[in-house]
Amino acid sequence: MNFEPNVRRGEWAWQPANRRYLEPKPPVTVLSPARCPDCEAVYYEGRWRWGAVPFAAHEVRCPACERQRRQLPAATLVMEGASVARHRDEFKRVALQREEALQRDNPLQRLMDIEPTPGGMRLTTTEVQLARDIGETLRERYGGRLDAEYDKQGMLRMRWSR
Ligand SMILES: [Zn+2]
Repeated sequence: MNFEPNVRRGEWAWQPANRRYLEPKPPVTVLSPARCPDCEAVYYEGRWRWGAVPFAAHEVRCPACERQRRQLPAATLVMEGASVARHRDEFKRVALQREEALQRDNPLQRLMDIEPTPGGMRLTTTEVQLARDIGETLRERYGGRLDAEYDKQGMLRMRWSR
């Protein structure tokens, strides 16, 4: 076996302490104030928000739109089990409600895709926080089991089964 250091970028994800460096945030150097041409979110004082576009804003695509364009979710949540397959509409509604709630303060909290699977459904999000929030809300309201782990690329993979 070869014990030479052979750490490629991305494999650091195995070390939980390094996780936060691996979340594949697009390397955006944001000029402030800025406005996203895709979703109209504005950036000033260090964060993205909804609101009036400041005068002379730079055009900079926000990280959420960048992820959507690249099809690069920050997190995925798989929901599975017989009751999930029977109640997809209800659980989808919960996901949409949580997105709306989190997005009021932060335009970057966004669902990317929600799709049915043979055993339930699956969704992806532009921020880790939204997937966690949806998973925890489902577990609180309906019980079941929630698992989460980061994969080698630094994407959060959650699974709720009920
Ligand atoms: Zn945007």
